[in-house]
Amino acid sequence: MVGLGCSASAPHEAPPVSVLIVVVDTLRADHLGTYGYPIPTSPNVDALAAGGAKFTRAYAAAPWTYSSVASLFTGLLPAAHGAVLPGLVKNEAKDPVVVPLGADFSTMAERFAAAGFQTALFARNGYLGHGNEQGFATYENPKRSRAADQAKRAVAWLETVPTATPFLLAVHMMDVHVPNRPTSASRALFPAIAALADEERDRVERFRVRFGGADDPAGAMFRTRRTAMYDASIRDVDTAIGRLLAGLGERRRNTLVVITADHGESLWDHDELERSLYSDPRRLRGVGHGQAFFEEVERVPLIVSLPGAIPPATHSEVVSLVDVLPTLLEQLGLAAAENIDGRSLVPLWKGAALPGRPAVFDSVCFGRDKQGILEFPWKFTRSNAEPDLLVNLDDDPGEHANVASLHPEQAARLAAALDIELARSRARGEGLRSPSVSGVVPALDEHEELKELGYVE
Ligand SMILES: [Zn+2]
Repeated sequence: MVGLGCSASAPHEAPPVSVLIVVVDTLRADHLGTYGYPIPTSPNVDALAAGGAKFTRAYAAAPWTYSSVASLFTGLLPAAHGAVLPGLVKNEAKDPVVVPLGADFSTMAERFAAAGFQTALFARNGYLGHGNEQGFATYENPKRSRAADQAKRAVAWLETVPTATPFLLAVHMMDVHVPNRPTSASRALFPAIAALADEERDRVERFRVRFGGADDPAGAMFRTRRTAMYDASIRDVDTAIGRLLAGLGERRRNTLVVITADHGESLWDHDELERSLYSDPRRLRGVGHGQAFFEEVERVPLIVSLPGAIPPATHSEVVSLVDVLPTLLEQLGLAAAENIDGRSLVPLWKGAALPGRPAVFDSVCFGRDKQGILEFPWKFTRSNAEPDLLVNLDDDPGEHANVASLHPEQAARLAAALDIELARSRARGEGLRSPSVSGVVPALDEHEELKELGYVE
């Protein structure tokens, strides 16, 4: 909830700036052209990034939808907002429950609504509910909806908003999440799947295959095809983003656009390391998301575009999705959010330095509870009853060498820093939460949906 109203009017005659935020579920940064991917997955996003602020070290606060989106929408880490799966081992039960995002927390949509914005969320993932939807006057979350349909619905909604009224439009697209069912137009761009028979394609729309190590030819082919299915799905989402941007029409000049993701996806990047460190109730290794904090899952795209107001630039500071809310509030001149974990990134384009700050990772949804911290280049992850993981992203950007035992002093320093960050965040959450709010709710309505999302067998 939001206690204070505030004015959205700018000091000059220009109409108030609106916001379009697109969250592409499961989109790792490094599979977009603008982040260096050599395959043309993302022409529309690349063009948008060329004219905006692009963050090359932006991190999700959690490696799965529910907790990560709650952090994006509240500016709080999971330790504060508590929208998590409870328990020391996650998702062992067939019917997982989540702690709902408390009504006490002020969300992005509530803050914008209080400032006179019209608000809408077009989603297709049960985890956008359970409190993540609070504050959106229009909220659609059907079980089946492609990015293309969502873009159409969102543009139709835009047409109902009077031109003088600012809006916050959030679209959460699921096409890049398994099961990947790219359109034939996008498949045609990827030779590994362009001519695949339907039944073969059905096999590779998910990651549920168990094969031998890197030398297994069947495994290598499966991996190539699955990666192409993932990439072709990005292409579909990119096309939908292009339609959304076009649908802004005249309003584009006055709409701040954010493109990001709630987390990325493992495509066998750390098969061996995961096997050696972690247990997973699904008995999967190196695929999907939610079980670890490797770069392919935690490093997300973050592009912020408002031509004329935000200069095009590439920013390599470590930032977190908890920073998005305070950045939007400052850029639009709305009341700042007090006592949150994130901080505004606006100083970066106002020519001011922003002191370094670590990114914190928390709230896994598979396997043993874990927390992590990145103070570039050191990244440290600890888990209850599993080994510590320390990597140096400068020496080892692919995160293949666990140097925790080689650099115990770094591991100890980061563990202490992590304790401080988590304690601070937890205290923040306790200050914001009403003590009477507690309890858990079933994570998703139907077993079928959990299955579809890859959360249960
Ligand atoms: Zn997600």
